[in-house]
Amino acid sequence: MTSMIGSTVLGYPRIGPDRELKRALESYWSGRSSEAELREEARRVRTDTWRTLADAGLDSVPGNTFSFYDQVLDTAVTFGAVPPRFSGLGLGPLDTYFAMARGADSAVPLEMTKWFDTNYHYLVPEIGPDTRFRLADRTPVEQYREALELGVATRPVLVGPVTFLLLSKPAEQAPEGFRPLDRLEDVLDAYAELLSELRDAGVEWIQLDEPAFAADRSESELDALRAAYRRLGELRERPRLMAAGYFGDLGEGLGVLASSPVEALGLDLVAGRSALERPAALYGLRDKTLVAGLVDGRNVWRTDLDAALTTAATLLGLAGEVAVGTSCSLLHVPYDVEAESGIDPQVKSWLAFARQKVDEVVTLGRALREGRDAVAGELAAASAAVADRMRAEGVRNHRAQERVASLRPEHARRTDYEARRRAQEESLRLPPLPTTTIGSFPQTAGVREARAAARTGGIDRAAYIRRMREEIAGVVELQERLGLDVLVHGEPERNDMVQYFSEHMEGFAATDQGWVQSYGSRCVRPPILFGDVARPEAITVEWAEYAQSLTDKPVKGMLTGPVTILAWSFVRDDQPLADTAAQVALAIRDEAGDLEAAGIRVVQVDEPALRELLPLRADHRRQYLDWAVEAFRLATSGVADSTQIHTHLCYSEFGDVIDAIVALDADVTSIEAARSRMEVLDDLNAVGFARGVGPGVYDIHSPRVPEAEEVADLLRAALKAVPAQRLWVNPDCGLKTRGYAEVESALHSMVGAAAAVRRSL
Ligand code: GLN
Ligand code: ZN
Repeated sequence: MTSMIGSTVLGYPRIGPDRELKRALESYWSGRSSEAELREEARRVRTDTWRTLADAGLDSVPGNTFSFYDQVLDTAVTFGAVPPRFSGLGLGPLDTYFAMARGADSAVPLEMTKWFDTNYHYLVPEIGPDTRFRLADRTPVEQYREALELGVATRPVLVGPVTFLLLSKPAEQAPEGFRPLDRLEDVLDAYAELLSELRDAGVEWIQLDEPAFAADRSESELDALRAAYRRLGELRERPRLMAAGYFGDLGEGLGVLASSPVEALGLDLVAGRSALERPAALYGLRDKTLVAGLVDGRNVWRTDLDAALTTAATLLGLAGEVAVGTSCSLLHVPYDVEAESGIDPQVKSWLAFARQKVDEVVTLGRALREGRDAVAGELAAASAAVADRMRAEGVRNHRAQERVASLRPEHARRTDYEARRRAQEESLRLPPLPTTTIGSFPQTAGVREARAAARTGGIDRAAYIRRMREEIAGVVELQERLGLDVLVHGEPERNDMVQYFSEHMEGFAATDQGWVQSYGSRCVRPPILFGDVARPEAITVEWAEYAQSLTDKPVKGMLTGPVTILAWSFVRDDQPLADTAAQVALAIRDEAGDLEAAGIRVVQVDEPALRELLPLRADHRRQYLDWAVEAFRLATSGVADSTQIHTHLCYSEFGDVIDAIVALDADVTSIEAARSRMEVLDDLNAVGFARGVGPGVYDIHSPRVPEAEEVADLLRAALKAVPAQRLWVNPDCGLKTRGYAEVESALHSMVGAAAAVRRSL
């Protein structure tokens, strides 16, 4: 093993090329297999990864990238940050770990939240003044040895100490004002212990990830970064340190790390390309290795190797060694494009998944070492693929482009709200505190089987339609029986709120095996948005229209918003996101128009991902929010005043996007709120929001059925902030993951509570 990094990737998918780990986990959780069987499968997944990466020719193979659930949870467990409600359960180490992730009878799990601006979710460690940090678990050392037995000397990857604490939250018993970062010294002691054990095991390099510095950080946080790496750098017995920052430009953190004693620095030169414009920030790298993250770890396009090499060449004089890497871990892309047989071959030739990205890195590493000529064939093939994508006819739809080019501001403006409100009141005639749901009803096994059978040809189109109509009729009947005011069709035809629309629009490709871990054993298969987007025909109208034919109550049409469609897809990088968003928005606008023409008077456009795409740095946010809001308004401004536009947002902490929520100009906004006890309403009032609002009155993530009295209390609390004319009554989110028995009881409580509170108005 040389001491050079040469070529490497910052991390690799870990769920298994065929989702082997997912199945092994779920089988273990349901009691169908033993811990030994689960551990055996995990070992196979790891072995396969190490062999693949070493055989591909990477100079430095990352280690410790495997996880049974989440790398932040792993870090907490490694360093002893297990809250007493879990350590006291008397379970073995693995079950304690799973209890932290998934909860146990008497212990609510750690909170889960999004990993920076990705769709991956991590578990939030709870740190208090009494958290006893120590090297409590030696998995990183054991996995290093395990790989070494296979002949692969890995570079163990850990979440860095400062990012670890910045992502943690204060334990419940922590005193006012306590910050997890206050415990930096103690955490560093534990890291130091691990570093020394890794050194003893023969580890040459380790990688410490500090992506938290791609976001805005205070002086004291930057000081913590400085102190941490000085301290770790000064340890006498330690492996060489590579610090990695990704998901953007490290800003001031770059200077801090460049002047620290670390031997290598991994930079994201895709999302954080702007670092290249400040070469002065890189000066401290003269005696270090710069791992240039030139291959995009977040998207699926083949790299323009020639351009990447040109960038790498500009760095050569700046750093002691220039190595090539991915911009971030490859966790965020699927395993292998070769596993795809259904994608159009031309589109497929433009793609690189994790396995292909490893080859790209290896090629770039060789080019740097041996010169361009040594890899001339690979460079030419990559350039040809990039050029082919840029000029391919299938990517272009002239009508879609012209529509975007001819847009004017008034296309994204509706009439004044007062006029709309009156027209809607007239058309809908709803009681005060109208009740509704967020869209989906339970997706029963029967519904899923019918969809699968339709896909594989097991049932024909007519039989499929009959089956879906039966389901819709049942959902409508249930809602009428419960006494809801605005009904939904239940979304039985949708596998996923983004995938479904992508499958019915031009410009998207679907994968068969393109799974990406979302959290734990949960994976998603994002569509690939490769070309101009257009909607060949109406998508949802047949279902909504059928539901409306069964009832006199208004049925709400359900659409997914443009920002969410972008957020949960792999998106083309050859034009500004704003232009792509506008194309998607026009397709959704046409759909809203068709729903209206079919007699649908209420249309909901969901934007649960509005906040997820929010740039990590405040000075990029204005621009993002401008186009995101504009796209939503474009999608929703083509309908008559009397058509009521709803939106649904899936989070309760929205301080950063609150002005944008107002700017969406939806007639009714439903938003997660049950867990925060309606506090969202005060926040909305503070910025002058004066439209309909439906703060979720119960948490659908839990199987618990609320009592009517408890919901009524929440509604009374809500009425302190919002007049009855504007207050809607709905659950926190869609019901698709729940069972019918609980849904029926919960909605019964909800409707009962609304009726009781209405009587007392
Ligand atoms: N209409 C969607 C549903 O009810 C909304 C899902 C979401 O908010 N994530 O399932
Ligand atoms: Zn939701």
